[in-house]
Amino acid sequence: MYRNLIFDWSGTLVDDLGPTLEATNAVFGIHGREAMDRDEFRRLFRLPYSEFYEEHLPGIALADLENHFRKAFAESPVAVTVLPHAREKLEWCREHGVRCFVLTSMDRNTFEGQLDDLEMRQYFEATYSGVVDKREVIGSLVINHELEVSQTAFLGDMIHDIVTAKHGGVASVALLTGYTHREVLQAQQPDWLMADLREFREMLDQHRRNS
Ligand SMILES: [Mg+2]
Repeated sequence: MYRNLIFDWSGTLVDDLGPTLEATNAVFGIHGREAMDRDEFRRLFRLPYSEFYEEHLPGIALADLENHFRKAFAESPVAVTVLPHAREKLEWCREHGVRCFVLTSMDRNTFEGQLDDLEMRQYFEATYSGVVDKREVIGSLVINHELEVSQTAFLGDMIHDIVTAKHGGVASVALLTGYTHREVLQAQQPDWLMADLREFREMLDQHRRNS
């Protein structure tokens, strides 16, 4: 089945909704916009984040927003944690020789810090961070690592992840552990819609037993 898995990071392997919401509201506050609550943020936030900010804070330079966001994110007292079942899934991949990659919009410094702090670096053959529009990178990722698209899946928690998977010609696995509600992901018709990484691992185990 899948020999190669490309993972989104936030909402797929780690839970950073708390500090992300705080940092977003800090950016909104600087520009006089009202804060969002958790539910509103989950309904409205989308990638590429450049489009989200253009919609809610039109006309403000992205680099300026990014600087404020990163500072507020780094200062947030709310910890980023590994999502339940994520480490087990990555251990499973290592055990079964499934190659793992990361493709994330998170800025490189923040991402690299989390890779080390959470002791996740050893699971990945290569990581791609700071990617605002993942569609622009999925093709070269597949080519660079000579991935057979029929044996490759991209796992993520947002519409942009599903769109990116389809753009790259790989399977799309939508997960409900992150920022986006079920019906919103469902509407994009991903190949798989899973509650979490345990459900995905069990599906692959089942497939192995049957083949
Ligand atoms: Mg995500």
